[in-house]
Amino acid sequence: MTLDLHRLALDAIDAAVDELHLDDGIRASLHHPERTLTVQVPYVADDGTLRVVPGYRVAHSTARGPAKGGTRFHLDVTPEEVAGLATLMSVKTALMNLPLGGGKGGVTIDPKQLSDAELESLTRSYTRAIAANIGPDTDVPAPDVNTTPRHMDWIADEYGRITGTTTPAVVTGKSLAAGGSLGRDTATAAGCRTVVLAAAKRLGFPADARVVIQGFGNAGAHLARMLDADGLRVVAVSDSQGAIHDPRGLNLAAVTETKETRGSVIHHDAEVIGPEELLTLDCEILVPAALEGAIDTGTAERLRAGLIAEAANGPCTAEADAVLRERGVTVVPDVLASAGGVTVSCFEWQQNLRGERWSAQDVSARLDARMNAALEDLWRVAEQRHLPLRAAANVLGVARIAEALEARTGQPAELAS
Ligand code: NAD
Repeated sequence: MTLDLHRLALDAIDAAVDELHLDDGIRASLHHPERTLTVQVPYVADDGTLRVVPGYRVAHSTARGPAKGGTRFHLDVTPEEVAGLATLMSVKTALMNLPLGGGKGGVTIDPKQLSDAELESLTRSYTRAIAANIGPDTDVPAPDVNTTPRHMDWIADEYGRITGTTTPAVVTGKSLAAGGSLGRDTATAAGCRTVVLAAAKRLGFPADARVVIQGFGNAGAHLARMLDADGLRVVAVSDSQGAIHDPRGLNLAAVTETKETRGSVIHHDAEVIGPEELLTLDCEILVPAALEGAIDTGTAERLRAGLIAEAANGPCTAEADAVLRERGVTVVPDVLASAGGVTVSCFEWQQNLRGERWSAQDVSARLDARMNAALEDLWRVAEQRHLPLRAAANVLGVARIAEALEARTGQPAELAS
């Protein structure tokens, strides 16, 4: 993790608190997580030895509902990173107007060095270590970097064994068989698609606007196919091996097949271009869906898109963001453009609590409605307060959390949101 995420999150909170003229009690409440748990995670290695690594679970805010956020297995996981990510989750769930707060968890380990048996032992041990602090009404983990539905199924099972209950709502991102939601695997892309279409319409782009997508993984590949089906022209995509370009619009079915069979999009029959050229191509819409910090000041000065939708987390550096603002490029921030995943996670939690199973169409319609409502709210606040969308997103999220905090403490809630 190159960025100081916790610092960034606190700066975002401070700017929003200042903009809203909130008092220092609210600032302090948002600066400090409600609960920070540091645990020892012992697991049994295949050679029979016991190993121990550190783990964390942070509930940043439960003012609006149970804490919600992913579980990261990575060597770079630190308590500060987990706290920063939990803070950003509080803003994200509030911006999306979900009945949830913000949380995050992680274990400092390289899971790629573990066998399946070791991974299961680690995940179950982590669950036991945090079990007293998680639950459908308190804190609901989900997948994040290096964790998948399989890990979530283990967490649900272990939690059930500990509590002697069947409680699928304790965790989201589970497999369908274990109570996962339809539409979860494509949720991030579907949410991003909705905001891209709505923002493009607001900006008056043509129906066949040109789209460039960096990253052809879970978020980028699904999104490319969806926007192509919507009639937009996806003219360039990239993965870690390189980028391809076709100004007439790529054949996404063929690109997908090439990626699946030959490992990279660069083997598709199209012009191969450099990674920097991809970001500065002539197009209306640019979607960074791969890396943190992918757009720096140099790229920000040269890119030609009028709209950037941040499907990835933190793809624009703070300095690049300032350049884009100066140049009048509209940036739909990650806190909204990548919020499809947490929104369908919320739907999964609601289905589990009610014992329901929603159809794919139902999930999709509800997701569309949420994303459109959030974009409309955001655009309104940005216009009213003359703020870029990123700052407006933080203001809106913080205002909603502060309102909930003030309602609970009996203070007047005179916040513009
Ligand atoms: P992924 O691992 O499935 O895909 C990442 C893609 O980026 C791959 O195609 C990879 O080849 C490509 N890539 C890596 N390095 C690259 C480079 N230098 N240039 C171009 N492409 C490169 O990951 P994902 O799940 O699609 O996530 C992508 C981003 O979206 C991340 O920032 C993630 O945090 C964010 N995000 C994902 C989800 C989700 O549900 N998948 C939710 C919220 C946010």
